[in-house]
Amino acid sequence: MSILPQPVEGPAIAAAVALAAWRAGSLSAGGAIAATVVGSVAAMAGWPWGAFLVGWFVTASAASRAGRAVKEAATGDVVAKGGRRDHWQVLANGGVFALCALLAMLYPAWAPQAAVAGASALVAAGADTLATETGTWWGGRPWSLRTFAPAAVGTSGAVSAAGTAGMAVAALLLAQMARTVDMISAGEVAVVAAAGVGGALADTLIGAWWQARRWCPSCHKETEQNLHRCGTVTRRTGGMAWLGNDAVNFLCTAVGAAAGTAMLTVPR
Ligand SMILES: [Zn+2]
Repeated sequence: MSILPQPVEGPAIAAAVALAAWRAGSLSAGGAIAATVVGSVAAMAGWPWGAFLVGWFVTASAASRAGRAVKEAATGDVVAKGGRRDHWQVLANGGVFALCALLAMLYPAWAPQAAVAGASALVAAGADTLATETGTWWGGRPWSLRTFAPAAVGTSGAVSAAGTAGMAVAALLLAQMARTVDMISAGEVAVVAAAGVGGALADTLIGAWWQARRWCPSCHKETEQNLHRCGTVTRRTGGMAWLGNDAVNFLCTAVGAAAGTAMLTVPR
């Protein structure tokens, strides 16, 4: 059904989707360029990769939009960035997936394993996003995994029952989506869902212990923003300076991919 050869058609579709997402306010201009690169690599690895990436992106963007009004009221002070994803966020979420797509392309013999790793990476990122959205939408006070004290809604490393349930359901639904577009086999759905939960849990643990924590001296509030929305430069009160939200998200997808690969190689 292809009108153009795949090496042309794939990037063209990726650019069109990225442009639409930029116009809809889901991506910044830089984010749209990064998404075009990730999408092009995915489409060249095969249509299932491209289809899963688009399905995942639509799901994650819809979830981000659905609760935006609620969320901004609840977390405007805390989260580092708004709903418009920039290029760092796109690479943090889609970089490992793109690397797996590249592997599948360069080493066709490993393509099935690379597909499980790539799907697990995106499922981890999606489960993490949907955990935050569900937890925020449901309400209730999350608590910090590090201090066991109640934390502000949206704080990295904070968990709630609703958020954790949302994480598990999202992982299963997204793994099923990867199966529906024929990226993975039916027997791999459970592996990819479990690997996704593993990555999202790693994200929470890393967020709780090592992610940079910042404080706005004007508002006397904890935040992840370097420049608080009130205009004050925040100072770091804990965690590692270089380990921001994007780095943690990247690690989330890397752990997901590694867990998926490991579970494949365990004899069953
Ligand atoms: Zn402030």
